[in-house]
Amino acid sequence: MLARTLLIAAVFVIFTNLSQAADSRPNIVIIFADDLGYGDLSCYGHPTIKTPHLDRMADEGVRFTQFYVAASVCTPSRAGLMTGRYPIRSGMCSDKRRVLFPNSGGGMPESEVTLPEALKKQGYATACVGKWHLGHLPQFLPTSHGFDSYFGIPYSNDMDRVNGAPKGRDSFWDPKVEYWNVPLFKDQTVIEQPAVQTTITKRYGEQAVKFIEDNKEKPFFLYLPHNLPHVPLFRSKEFAGHSERGLYGDVIEEIDNTVGQVLNTLRKHDLDENTFVFFTSDNGPWLPFKTHGGSAGLLREGKGTTWEGGMREPGIGWWPGTIPAGQITTELASTLDLYSTCLLMAGAELPADRVVDGVDIRPALMGTGPSPRDSLIYYRGEQIYAVRQGPWKAHFITQGAYSGPGRVEHDTPELYHLLHDPSEKYNVAADHPEVIKQLRKLTQEHKKTVKPVVNQLEIPMGE
Ligand code: MG
Repeated sequence: MLARTLLIAAVFVIFTNLSQAADSRPNIVIIFADDLGYGDLSCYGHPTIKTPHLDRMADEGVRFTQFYVAASVCTPSRAGLMTGRYPIRSGMCSDKRRVLFPNSGGGMPESEVTLPEALKKQGYATACVGKWHLGHLPQFLPTSHGFDSYFGIPYSNDMDRVNGAPKGRDSFWDPKVEYWNVPLFKDQTVIEQPAVQTTITKRYGEQAVKFIEDNKEKPFFLYLPHNLPHVPLFRSKEFAGHSERGLYGDVIEEIDNTVGQVLNTLRKHDLDENTFVFFTSDNGPWLPFKTHGGSAGLLREGKGTTWEGGMREPGIGWWPGTIPAGQITTELASTLDLYSTCLLMAGAELPADRVVDGVDIRPALMGTGPSPRDSLIYYRGEQIYAVRQGPWKAHFITQGAYSGPGRVEHDTPELYHLLHDPSEKYNVAADHPEVIKQLRKLTQEHKKTVKPVVNQLEIPMGE
């Protein structure tokens, strides 16, 4: 009897190993923070915020120093990640309303081929745990765009402010859960309102771990976009007073803890060598919120702007055994590229009937060659404010974030050499007219590929 049991067990082990070997497609995990700046992690130089799990992730993988998002505010940035396309192509950016609001009637169009939708077609189990912000009406929710399940607050945690809460920014300095009536969804149903934000980061971590454990036998895609450190800042009682950086540091350190929980779960179930994990943030720090906002480190400005601080983010890739440990790369990459790269890793083809702006950055991740990306378009709303190619960045239009300097159109764009001058301090336009000519040409070529579509951010509720 014992011999027979052992035999069955041995056959089972062999079969399981064979089936895993036959399926070389990795699991994919994308962890996204909200409004976390380039300078907010210890592995990116923050002097008092401690992020041991992200630091270990970087030590065991690759850390990008020139990683970008598709826009400097939430909704268009996330649209870029989910589609691999500049948000202008899906109608998910606007000059009038910069993001979706609880009274918005639009969202990610059904015609877009989202990352989860394409991975699901490849047989992946898919889950979104966290902030969506691509439409909160049923037809736009994650479960309508390729995710098998959803758990999270569907938009920013400062929306739905209740009457009677302190006015303006006063409600943020000592935030209370009851000031914001934001809903917490499970799939398409509101299960809590207001969402208890003090425990939201912790619960997102628990949900992420549960999804991995429930799906460890098949390929899975976990998208974990935290609502924090977007203001108002909340953390669980275990993290109160955790950080020398104060409340903002507590919040980052709790997010870091969830990264540790995810990576440790993968290690525990021997999934680490078959899982690609990427960590980044949707846009730069919200600087007008002072110590409740983060830091872009040495980069200029923050959220809402097309200066580097608005759109360059930490970017950490991890896949033990495939991504060599301890790399720091200056190769250019974008969240747009995560779309293309993840689809190709999963054995899918990129949609051929539309422009996909993302490129395959596996050479940069694996350290086997350069990134194919050499340029970036910096949109603010629907307008191109700046363009980068190689080390050069031209600003055709400049503008501060919210209360900062107004909009200025430049006849001769401002020009910065981002390798020599990452802080964008020294305008060298006068010395390089040929570079400006080339960047203008690149901009015109890009514009020719953009077709008019319905603007989703300007559709009111009820239409
Ligand atoms: Mg954001």
